[in-house]
Amino acid sequence: VTAAALALTGAACGKAGGAKKDSATADKGPASIGLLLPENASSTRYESFDRPFIEAKVKALCADCKVLYNNAEGSAAKQKQQFDTLLTQGVKVIILDAFDAAATAGWVKEAADKGVKVVAYDRLATGPVSAYVSFDNEKVGELQGQALLDALGGKAAESDIVMINGDEADPNAAQFKAGAHKVLDGKIRKVVYEQSGQWNPTIAGQKVSAAVTQYGKNGFQAVYSANDGMAAAIITQLKGAGITVPVGGQDAGLDAIQRIVAGDQTYTVYKAYRPLADAAAELAVDLLQGKDVKTVADATADSPTDKNIPAKLLQAKVVTKANIAQTVVADGLYKASDICTAD
Ligand code: BGC
Repeated sequence: VTAAALALTGAACGKAGGAKKDSATADKGPASIGLLLPENASSTRYESFDRPFIEAKVKALCADCKVLYNNAEGSAAKQKQQFDTLLTQGVKVIILDAFDAAATAGWVKEAADKGVKVVAYDRLATGPVSAYVSFDNEKVGELQGQALLDALGGKAAESDIVMINGDEADPNAAQFKAGAHKVLDGKIRKVVYEQSGQWNPTIAGQKVSAAVTQYGKNGFQAVYSANDGMAAAIITQLKGAGITVPVGGQDAGLDAIQRIVAGDQTYTVYKAYRPLADAAAELAVDLLQGKDVKTVADATADSPTDKNIPAKLLQAKVVTKANIAQTVVADGLYKASDICTAD
């Protein structure tokens, strides 16, 4: 297999025993699939799971495919540069977890004009994406709201809540928020304080401190945090102020699971990363090989710019102390010994 042949068609991909493993050729060969993830500050998921799982599945499906990875570290401008670099490097497909979904319309169009396909990953990018793989994100918000209600039990109707939402540049954040409100509104007394933590633990912690200052130590009975990274900072602030109330997050980060075991965090929402990554890799390799994405996509999604995007939307699960073994441990995400460190 020559580099030139791969560049033109990606034809060696996915054929068992097809291409000879010639590492010299592979190293000099073309980059096939780009992978761009949005940030690192508020979630460990990207480097711990999304990236390695996607890389492994692409390798398994296509021995000669390469994945070129980059992380925007919370900057839309940086992600744009990373996207342009991938186009220059000649990738044929880009798996894009948009830092700022509204910003991507022009880039995705430019890629499409060059024949480069984009798979929107986790967050629905704008522009003519070829496929979208994510979770049912409004349902994620509903699960969060319900888990908070369950923690409040009979006291829910007398409870005031603080809500720290995700970054507005991320369309998922609006869906988490909408889902949580759908469940909480009418069941709790009221949301006394609601702000965006911008997927930034420092900002989330500051916002919760402001809520404590404004409403006092007994001014709220639970905190909704859109994810675990922000929950960590929120819990630190609450502890410092001597406040113990239910706090939940999302992502099933290892430290979150440890806080749940310790009783500091009430729940997290676990979105199984393996099936998500597998679906993205399959879509990317199918696109690379000119196959129909509908073998993977079984639904459709609408973005502000495009309708009926072929989509695969997975279901998430709430994790509390009661089901850690049956969820993140059973799925092989963590071993019991990772969670229970001997200190
Ligand atoms: C993801 C969450 C993540 C958050 C912050 C969202 O789009 O769905 O899993 O915690 O971004 O990175």
